[in-house]
Amino acid sequence: MSRAAASATTSAALPAAMSSPAQLDRLGGHLRKLRLLKSGERLEALLQEAAARELPYAEFLEQVLGEEVAAKTAKNIAMRTAMARFPFVKPLETFDFAYQPSIDRKQLQQLASSHYIEHGDNVIILGPPGVGKTHLAVSLGLKAIEAGYRVMFSTAAHLIATLTKAHGENRLEEKLRVFTAPRLLIIDEIGYLPIDRQGANLFFQLISRRYERGPMILTSNQSFGAWGEVFGDRVIATAILDRLLHHAVTLNIRGNSYRLKEKLKAGLVRSHDETTTEPGGEI
Ligand code: ADP
Ligand code: MG
Repeated sequence: MSRAAASATTSAALPAAMSSPAQLDRLGGHLRKLRLLKSGERLEALLQEAAARELPYAEFLEQVLGEEVAAKTAKNIAMRTAMARFPFVKPLETFDFAYQPSIDRKQLQQLASSHYIEHGDNVIILGPPGVGKTHLAVSLGLKAIEAGYRVMFSTAAHLIATLTKAHGENRLEEKLRVFTAPRLLIIDEIGYLPIDRQGANLFFQLISRRYERGPMILTSNQSFGAWGEVFGDRVIATAILDRLLHHAVTLNIRGNSYRLKEKLKAGLVRSHDETTTEPGGEI
């Protein structure tokens, strides 16, 4: 410890000594009762620092309350992030836009502001495997959480399996409410697994419930034209798309799989440009 720091600690120790142990106890009790836990942990340090820096009363109060609000906000974001059940947590800042030039960076930045949620718009991300659909959906989900919204992430397969099971147990209404309650619902991987007629029907019910009320982010490796096959029924697929696309932004990613980035570099596989430009084609 430097001499200056050592002397600061010694002089700073004085004011804390000025507050009697009984007073510190009482203050600690008040803070616990008010659930101001961060301030409780930092009480002595805060008092010492305020005395050492001779902080004006208002500044001291601002510091204490500011730290408490920051701690509560961080805790709340961490809690809602855990509740969202993301497959991984990757902020938008970790997305390499240079690798995926078909993505309009400005459009993504606008979506990152989460205004689409206020407007009740859906975001649909289409593209072949590995181009970053899930990554972007998670990143936008994290932005929505930062903006204060409750978010839930599910794959289409998990969502449909959950609704089908609930239907069999006469608990469909309860489960539909689980998926309609979060302000933003992310449904990942539409099109990877075939959906049976009942599954398509249940999915349609959920989409209808959220229609014009709860925005969604959906990802698919299949173009809209192929959704008739995905849902095994052209009529249901049209009804689903009709509601989804009424207020929606669609991102069509055409590019190479990021998973294959290293392999492409090494020339072990051919680039996407040499194969297909339509979403849905495996590389
Ligand atoms: P998709 O859902 O389209 O199949 P993912 O989002 O799962 O693809 O991406 C596959 C992996 O590559 C993930 O680990 C993801 O974080 C990473 N990834 C994809 N695209 C990018 C990118 N442009 N920048 C950084 N990481 C990326
Ligand atoms: Mg994915």
